[in-house]
Amino acid sequence: MPDTNQPQQPTPLIETRVCIDDTLGPFDAKLDPTNRWNGWLSPYFTLDTVRELAARTQQMAEEYGHDSVDTIHVFPVLHVADGGTDREGEPRAVVVHIRWQYLEDGAESAATIVQPNDEGLYGIGGWEWTWHFATWPCPCDNNPWHETRCEFCGLHRPEGASADQTDDRT
Ligand SMILES: [Zn+2]
Repeated sequence: MPDTNQPQQPTPLIETRVCIDDTLGPFDAKLDPTNRWNGWLSPYFTLDTVRELAARTQQMAEEYGHDSVDTIHVFPVLHVADGGTDREGEPRAVVVHIRWQYLEDGAESAATIVQPNDEGLYGIGGWEWTWHFATWPCPCDNNPWHETRCEFCGLHRPEGASADQTDDRT
C-alpha cells in the first residue's frame, strides 16, 4: 500500500458548518481544521453562502452600528459586454470586506477585495474573526460533533440538520 500520509501537502479542506456565537451563521463552509488563529477557524464559502453572510453583516451593522461590525458586500458585474460571466458562464461577482472602524483612520486594509481560491470559494474573516465550528447532536451520543461526517459512528449529517447547539453550551 502506498503511504497516503503526506505531511508536506496542505491538509485537505473538510466540509463543515461554522458560526460566530449566535450572531453569524451557521453557514456551510470548507476549511483546514489545523489552520487556527488563537483557536479560531478560517473558513471558505461558496458565493451563494457569501451572499447570505453579506446580508447578515449588513443587517448587524444596521443594528449595532458600523463602528463595531465589519460588512461584506457582493457586487454583481452585470451588463458588461463579454465580461459579465466567467469562464464557466457563471455571473462574475466582486466580494468586498469593509472594516468600518479602520476606515476613518484611512488604513489601506479598511476595504479589501476577497479573491476566490482555486475552488472558487471565498475566505471570509480568516485570522481575523472568531469563527468556530457549529455543532449538532448525533444519535450516537458522541456529540458535539462538527464535521459533515461523525468521526465516531460515521453517520453523515442530514441535509439542513439543526446546528443550534454550539460549543460548550448546555
Ligand atoms: Zn455519531
